[in-house]
Amino acid sequence: MRMYDVIARKRDGGELTDAEIAWFVRGCVTGEIPDYQISALLMAVYLRGMTARETAELTLCMAASGDTVDLSSVPGVTVDKHSTGGVGDKTTLAAIPMAASLGVFAAKMSGRGLGHTGGTIDKLESIPGFRTGLSRGEFLRIVRQVGCCIAGQSGNLVPADKKLYALRDVTATVESVPLIASSVMSKKLASGAGRILLDVKAGSGAFMKTPEQAAGLARAMVDIGKHAGRRTEALVTAMDRPLGRSVGNWLEVREACETLQGRGPEDLTVLSVELAAEMLFLAGGGNRADCRAKAERSIADGSAFRKFREMTAAQGGDVSVLDHPDGFGAAEASLSVDAPESGFVFSMDTERCGEASVLLGAGREKLGDGIDPFAGFVLRKKTGDRVEKGEPLAVLYARTEEKCRSAAPLLAGAFFIRAQAPSPAPSILARVTEDGVTWMPGAARG
Ligand code: URA
Repeated sequence: MRMYDVIARKRDGGELTDAEIAWFVRGCVTGEIPDYQISALLMAVYLRGMTARETAELTLCMAASGDTVDLSSVPGVTVDKHSTGGVGDKTTLAAIPMAASLGVFAAKMSGRGLGHTGGTIDKLESIPGFRTGLSRGEFLRIVRQVGCCIAGQSGNLVPADKKLYALRDVTATVESVPLIASSVMSKKLASGAGRILLDVKAGSGAFMKTPEQAAGLARAMVDIGKHAGRRTEALVTAMDRPLGRSVGNWLEVREACETLQGRGPEDLTVLSVELAAEMLFLAGGGNRADCRAKAERSIADGSAFRKFREMTAAQGGDVSVLDHPDGFGAAEASLSVDAPESGFVFSMDTERCGEASVLLGAGREKLGDGIDPFAGFVLRKKTGDRVEKGEPLAVLYARTEEKCRSAAPLLAGAFFIRAQAPSPAPSILARVTEDGVTWMPGAARG
């Protein structure tokens, strides 16, 4: 087989065979195919796309390119939950313990934040002592005993994705549906869960800027799950504003705890309950309405928060900071960003909000950068809120006042204030199953 021919066919809009895709993935991992030829094929895929069969085959080959996790020792149905990434998205911290408190087993491997989006591992590591670098044996033991565990990716999981993602990142080929779908789903398949729930974000803080594009990505991933024999469903949810009010690692853990205790912001609570309910539904826990009622009850009766404490303790974390967050540390410096005029917050540039959190020290610009667990911001106003001139839009937190001052203009520029209020929009836009896309009432499309 010649890589030249594979590239030329895709360049001309042709379809690759299963054998060619398997050969390509193997060559990426062994190093036999040079980076310039891999990059050329990535660009051809970016421009020409892939059929559902090609995308599924690419995903299966990528999933099998390294270690895989065997969850057969877990005594129940395992459900994985994955978000395509956003700003202030701490739903994993809330939905996973909620679902686990209802009998779902969740063996979750998460990543660190990079660019403007946060990462669950960084958030959890803001809890003193919390260990995310677990051996495979320890990970499985905690899943069996507690019902859930959230750890960093260990071992040699999907080396083909590491290679392809690194090249996509520097060749302007990240935003391609078959490439994103195969990247996400190969890691889900290798992580071993029997059922998969995806939260595909749409809006100014997401890869997919419109709900239609996000639904297209969700469909591609649900199709891959079907092809692989793993039941997969997706929710398309709004990322046209940060989720909840807090952005930053410890600030987000704190807000997730409040949500688990019934005191969280409404958008975060609604989405976390829906995700936990969908996980339970996928695990066979009843019809959707029953699952939602059970998820809501897990907050009201305290079992969801107890499960988060239990998981934190099992992973070495200090649960006293979850119980008494006011007694824990805080950032040294803070600064208020005030409204320049009166009106309504009409819209927000969510990516800018994420960039401001990185400047404050909550995220990293490149892999290996250190982060400040207490840095970030708390929004006082979000899209749809009325604001008077001089009222705080947000409060910034960082290690120094200088850092706060450097991020303030960026965050201030993320708010668009107008005289009229925007039309209200739901935060859950669509549900995508093997049967197709169901749009929620009032979901803006386009
Ligand atoms: N997340 C992934 O894991 N891969 C992508 O390609 C995009 C988002």
